[in-house]
Amino acid sequence: MANQIYAFANQKGGVGKTTSCINLAASLVLSKKRILVCDLDPQGNATMGSGVDKNALDASMNELLQGTAKAQDVVISQTPAGYDLIPANSDLTEAEVVLLKKHGQQPLFLVKALSALKEDYDYIFLDCPPSLNMLTVNALSAADAVIIAMQCEYFALEGLTDLVNTVKQLQATLNPRLHIGAIIRTMFDGRNRLAAEVSSQLLEHFGNKVFQTVIPRNVRLAEAPSYGLPVQLYDKHSRGSAAYSALAGEFLRKEKAALKKETLKREKVKG
Ligand code: ATP
Ligand code: MG
Repeated sequence: MANQIYAFANQKGGVGKTTSCINLAASLVLSKKRILVCDLDPQGNATMGSGVDKNALDASMNELLQGTAKAQDVVISQTPAGYDLIPANSDLTEAEVVLLKKHGQQPLFLVKALSALKEDYDYIFLDCPPSLNMLTVNALSAADAVIIAMQCEYFALEGLTDLVNTVKQLQATLNPRLHIGAIIRTMFDGRNRLAAEVSSQLLEHFGNKVFQTVIPRNVRLAEAPSYGLPVQLYDKHSRGSAAYSALAGEFLRKEKAALKKETLKREKVKG
């Protein structure tokens, strides 16, 4: 599919949302896709990891969400990785408070802001904070699907229930097209018995929504953001780089299959 918006979400912290968001984005750029990464986390990790100084921003996601800047004014084009970026920093907590006060239509702010940009990109990735707060609700209201990054640990599946319920709630109210698009197993070590067990439970519950490609623990992935680079540019021969390239390949095959399914459905309706 094209012109799709994906939210990288999991209210659990430190599971690899941002790492997956920026490295998958960078891998897709290498496949000639036009990508916009939106930082929706006041921590600004996606911003720094994209080589943009979060402490020196003129305009950011905060202004966009408060309606004081237009989308085209906050987009930084062509980060070193080759994708565009809407950056964020701690100012974004201000937007969260403002959004909370504007009862009723608040989750639609990002939808409106991104609608002006959707046609310019093959994929828009939203990097969510580790919480099911207003920023995440805004992201899930604007997204076509959620990509869940998760570590195969003891409480991981329990944590997923809250996220799945939030997705269902939004699907029933503000965003009928929202669904779980895919699950990425991050920092994976198949030799660890618990990880293997959780992984097989995950496959049982979510079937082919789980990417077959697993992301191993790899120190290059942890180092790359401090240089403001995706792993493909920091160390393209690393296991981390190979894993995210493989993930991008699988992502594009899934997209192609979804497009085919959609086209067949439309043709059937037409009769
Ligand atoms: P937060 O919830 O705080 O936004 P997150 O879910 O976005 O966190 P990341 O920031 O991507 O998670 O990753 C958490 C930490 O683990 C970071 O220091 C990151 O560099 C490191 N990390 C992520 N994936 C890997 C990996 N596959 N191998 C080694 N280190 C990793
Ligand atoms: Mg993050």
